[in-house]
Amino acid sequence: MDHLPIFLNLQGKRALVVGGGTMAARKADLLLRAGSHLTVVAATLEDDFARLIDEHSIDHRKRDLEAADLDGCVIAFGASSDDASNENLYTLATAAHVPVNVSDRPEYCDFVMPALVDRSPLLIAIGSGGTTPLLTRMLKARFETSIPASYGRLAEFAGRYRDRVKASVPDLTRRRRFWETMIDGPIAEHLFSGQEELATALMNKSLKEAATEGDQPPHGEVYLVGTGPGDPDLLTFRALRLMQQADVVLYDRLIGDGILNLVRRDAERIYVGKMKKDHSVPQQDISNMLIRLAREGKRVLRLKGGDPFVFGRGGEEIATLADHGIAFQVIPGITAANGCAAYAGIPLTHRDHAQGYVVVTGHEKDGELKLNWHSLIQPRQTVVVYMGLTSLGTIARGFVSNGADPATPAAVIENGTRAGQRVIVGTLGCLEEKSIAAGVQSPALIIVGSVVTLRNTLSWFANTEQEQ
Ligand code: SAH
Repeated sequence: MDHLPIFLNLQGKRALVVGGGTMAARKADLLLRAGSHLTVVAATLEDDFARLIDEHSIDHRKRDLEAADLDGCVIAFGASSDDASNENLYTLATAAHVPVNVSDRPEYCDFVMPALVDRSPLLIAIGSGGTTPLLTRMLKARFETSIPASYGRLAEFAGRYRDRVKASVPDLTRRRRFWETMIDGPIAEHLFSGQEELATALMNKSLKEAATEGDQPPHGEVYLVGTGPGDPDLLTFRALRLMQQADVVLYDRLIGDGILNLVRRDAERIYVGKMKKDHSVPQQDISNMLIRLAREGKRVLRLKGGDPFVFGRGGEEIATLADHGIAFQVIPGITAANGCAAYAGIPLTHRDHAQGYVVVTGHEKDGELKLNWHSLIQPRQTVVVYMGLTSLGTIARGFVSNGADPATPAAVIENGTRAGQRVIVGTLGCLEEKSIAAGVQSPALIIVGSVVTLRNTLSWFANTEQEQ
């Protein structure tokens, strides 16, 4: 280790910046954010720096640096274009035992400035000892995208409770578990979704329980997570976070390997979908399993293709959980209609074609399609049919016999957003035949409406996959 990373408390302490350019202004801004009293030595100032000085009570000395400028300073930064000035700063700061950093001049630096990911009060500083600034910038970009902005809120919230938790849970091991549960559990999730009141109530309750209860296992919880139509890149940050903290995962056929691989490695995996020819696990059995696992204190992840509340039976699952007093969270996902349409190049609405779209299920109940044809067959409206592959012919004929033009454009999207995506474009009159000829398999989504023709104008899409 070439450097000692530390976080310096500059609140109310004096800091010095020498230079009046953009780089100096940036350093000044950082020092102000860290709460320091700032002295700036610069004969001239660039506009943005002058504005900063006007807005804050900064001691600006319009001249060259003098030894006395370092009096009472705990840190100094140089960012002058004049090398003699930089060298002078380094000499004077060294004599005064003030740590100094001169931008882009490692030989005049007592310390290097890290790349910062700021989720105050949570701070991540990344350094490569000045060797590869590009690598630190790349890592910073990764952290910026993988650490939600709300982590700062979490750190601030936890900070407020530090002393109380220490007093209520004196045992160190139990206290660590308390914090783990808090940071990984519903309290943090409520904070992330902006529900601070709920988080506070839950925190107070947990604290009371921790103080009175013995060392019991933590409460279990169910996460009903929408994973989107298949491409793992379409997961939400929140889904990914919960996937990485689950103890056990229940999934079915709609969940591909790409997504399953992102679940915490040591989580137990339970398949609850259809086996070949077999029926799927009955809904009630799944609900019972969720309840049993949560009661064992596990964090149970129930993965749902697309969105849990769009033909996902999510409503039924949470109703049962609520009946049994099990804590749960529902995390939305991109539903098949939106994902497939985007990846197939078919806008669901369009100024010249459709003012709205409706989604319906094509699943037959008791051998019958119970669709409200009148509401589906409307001018300037797109219809998206889920679970309609088996009854594709019946659906297409239903449209036509209820008054739709057989020449109405329609498409089937198989395996939407996934590696093997295929789009079969036709009309109500010929879609079934084309789809059978192409051997389309489930999962497949049907889109009916003139927006389908727009796909032909987007040649990029047409060229990227097999067109039938
Ligand atoms: N909750 C899911 C829908 C579940 S119903 C969602 O919001 O998307 C299952 C149906 O969704 C399938 O029969 C199919 O019509 C559609 N579907 C889901 N994923 C799909 C995909 N990747 N490509 C095409 N259709 C898909």
